[in-house]
Amino acid sequence: MLSLRRLLPTHDRQDRTFEGRTRDWRLAATFWMLMTAALLSSTELRAEDDEEKSTLSPAQQELSRKFAGIASWEGRFTYESYGVESGGDWNKYTYTQEGATSGTFRLEADREGSFPERGVIVWKGDGKAAGSLRYRDSTWNPRGFGSEEGMDVSGTWPMRGIELTLWIDKSHAFLHSGIIEEKDYVQTRITGRAVGEVNLSSSKYETRYTTIDRATTFHPITWGTLSDEPGIWGPFRGGPGVVVYNYEQKGGYAWGRAASRSKTQVIMYPVYDDLEVEIEASGYDTWRPEGSIAQTDKSGNGLAFRARLVRKSGSGKSIPDVKKFRFELVGTSREPGVCLNWPVGARDSEYDLKLTAAPGFRTAQPFTGVGAKISDQGQKGELKNPPRDDKGSPYADIAVESYDFGGRSELLVVCELEDGRELIGKLKGAADPAVRLPKRAAGDWVAQSWRDAHGVKALSAGDDEEKVAGQPLNGDGFTLYEEYRGWAIGGKHYEGDPKRKDFFVRNYIGRPAEAGIALFSSVTQIRVQHRQTDQEFNLSRVMNLNHRDAPHRVDQHCVVMFNAEGTGSSGGRTHAIKGVGAGQRWRPKDVQNITVEMPGVTDGIFSAGRSVGRYNLSDADARQAYARGIAHELLHAVGVEHHGEGEDVNEFYFQAASDPNNPTHHVRFCTRSPFISDFDLRLPSSGKPYSLDRGRTITLLWEDTGRDIAEEMAPAFERALAAERAHRAAHPPSADAGERASRFSHYGKSAEYWRESAVYDDVARGMTEAGFEAFREKGKFPGFSRSVTIGKLGQADSGHESCLMRYYFANAYPVAGKTDTYYVVRGGQNHVGNLLCQSPVGTGANDAGHQPQPRFGDASGGNGNCLSQVCPNDAIPPH
Ligand SMILES: [Zn+2]
Ligand SMILES: [Zn+2]
Repeated sequence: MLSLRRLLPTHDRQDRTFEGRTRDWRLAATFWMLMTAALLSSTELRAEDDEEKSTLSPAQQELSRKFAGIASWEGRFTYESYGVESGGDWNKYTYTQEGATSGTFRLEADREGSFPERGVIVWKGDGKAAGSLRYRDSTWNPRGFGSEEGMDVSGTWPMRGIELTLWIDKSHAFLHSGIIEEKDYVQTRITGRAVGEVNLSSSKYETRYTTIDRATTFHPITWGTLSDEPGIWGPFRGGPGVVVYNYEQKGGYAWGRAASRSKTQVIMYPVYDDLEVEIEASGYDTWRPEGSIAQTDKSGNGLAFRARLVRKSGSGKSIPDVKKFRFELVGTSREPGVCLNWPVGARDSEYDLKLTAAPGFRTAQPFTGVGAKISDQGQKGELKNPPRDDKGSPYADIAVESYDFGGRSELLVVCELEDGRELIGKLKGAADPAVRLPKRAAGDWVAQSWRDAHGVKALSAGDDEEKVAGQPLNGDGFTLYEEYRGWAIGGKHYEGDPKRKDFFVRNYIGRPAEAGIALFSSVTQIRVQHRQTDQEFNLSRVMNLNHRDAPHRVDQHCVVMFNAEGTGSSGGRTHAIKGVGAGQRWRPKDVQNITVEMPGVTDGIFSAGRSVGRYNLSDADARQAYARGIAHELLHAVGVEHHGEGEDVNEFYFQAASDPNNPTHHVRFCTRSPFISDFDLRLPSSGKPYSLDRGRTITLLWEDTGRDIAEEMAPAFERALAAERAHRAAHPPSADAGERASRFSHYGKSAEYWRESAVYDDVARGMTEAGFEAFREKGKFPGFSRSVTIGKLGQADSGHESCLMRYYFANAYPVAGKTDTYYVVRGGQNHVGNLLCQSPVGTGANDAGHQPQPRFGDASGGNGNCLSQVCPNDAIPPH
């Protein structure tokens, strides 16, 4: 294999030292500059060789004569480079870059510089190159400090002084790409942003946002210099013909990272004035490769070609005899599987496109391929003694079959004439005669027709920057190429949307969860795929596992969602994988799974009973509680946090004014249960008796009327008390509470006290005759205690009232300026909604103007503005 030779004198490197930082783009830029330097030194090399005398053998004289007869060469080249890397412990970095250059050139015989008798033959010429570079570089720490920058640039450049020299006697060739002059460099800018912390004093810090915008210049990499390598002479050994150089580098100096790759291809061929080889393929412009999901070893589709030798000017002269047509697929991709996830975890290195003489699909044009011999795993073929068509042109049919939705290759057709000349096939009538499969720009991985259909002409194949208004973190972790290559979902091929963020959810809950998934999708504008089968992903949860050389940015994960197991209220939960902090914003990769309580659970968090009876939702809002719950958990999986943390569930106990244990003699709620057991009353070894005090007074006021709830409940309690007294008078209880007077004499209370205490306790807890009746009917004792969930300013219930990330479980909040006093929200008065907030400011009941006071106020701790937190992209570190 050839490698790119670089003549880099060390002093040259030092001359071009850039300022301290060794960011990759700088390495890249340095390398590109150095390439120019390398080319300058080539002239010296040749001058030195010219001094030597040589004697040619008869065979060499013959070869020299043949080459001396070549007046011109045409050529084309492609250089492409791709790199991606991410990592870091505290400071997380991601780096991606993609560059491509392609061009054409023409060389003319340099009669002055050539000495055929000595076997030295020189051609010189010019060309033009078009190139682009895109890179993104970011480093962020978990606190949100760091920077990101990038550059997108493209341009066209003249190439001057391209040269091919052959030394027949030494079996040596030299080919260099000429020079792109500094005056032709493109002026461009590197842009981005940085977030830093500025220390104002020993205890005062300020976050500072900076815009990055600085000038730089750009010119593309061309192939550089080819010389000296063992393979350099090979294509010339047999005489003038089609010359193909392919070389690949991994982890090259150009980008300084192990993950980077570059590929270069140079194709050259002698120009003959009278003849040419036309290639025609019906449907070529819109063809894109496909694989077969049902049978992965079968082709998905294909395209047929016909190559014909014709005269450039249709003069009456006969067309010479063809010895054979040769076919070659050059640079065929070997991406594993047929698409990103099928078969899941594929490791094969099969070619994605193969030649065939007997296509298994209906060709769009007449096809007579029989007789062509295919070899090298479908990468080469030849047809000897080809037939002639009705116009007398020798022709050959060949087909290409595709085994992958994202394959690519280039079809090379060489026509060998009986007289020894070789001609290269060109796509008939095309501005760019190279037969790239599918039709695409040099260096690209994505079919031009797909780009056109999706309006993404200008995006690079590695692009991952889908934008949604209000969401500053772009992209979905899938490159443009990956969205084009697509997935197997439910046994069918699906593509991503290059303009929307794609996200995968494995929904084990099934249909009941679909409304919530749809809600998540509508508020985030994320396109959710949730119908993949278990065979279409594996334990890794990575949805783009099948990749080798094609643009891949990050292993992008799906999120798995189950019904919560067991009974009882477990709500919804997003579980992070081991080692991921609860404090950081999550990405799909961080989420082990989501579990959500089933909507049918009696008295569950999504039940109508609790939604209406306890959380005070309207009936309409209660019906959507489950969908909201699903959407809420999915939002956690894409980095959205609560508006604040905290909510306290409290049980407060009713105590009548006349209760013997009520020292205030006012009806009230208190903090301890009225229930006192015999166990409690025993004198412990410590000698300190159980306290009969029922705790602090808690004042609960209706939010809307300001009335005391205990006072409102007093008449009902008195009625229940009277009824129970009557019942006990008629049916004296078998156990007399009055016995406690002697058993627990250390309290010094009378039998009457204990009887009274017991009846107040039982009525408060609903453990009465009427209470048992109610329990038999409803399964619940009709006690007088109140379960109150208290939320405070800036806690989980704060912020925009209608945001899906706001908790809505608090039904009370502290009255400003008072201790142990709370406003309680009335049924139907808790409003929720189905949106994602864009500000921490409290709305509705949380609004500063809400009467009698704002319930939970603004979101706190940097939370709120939930829309801006949405990021399903595993490549973007949480910050
Ligand atoms: Zn949550
Ligand atoms: Zn919000």
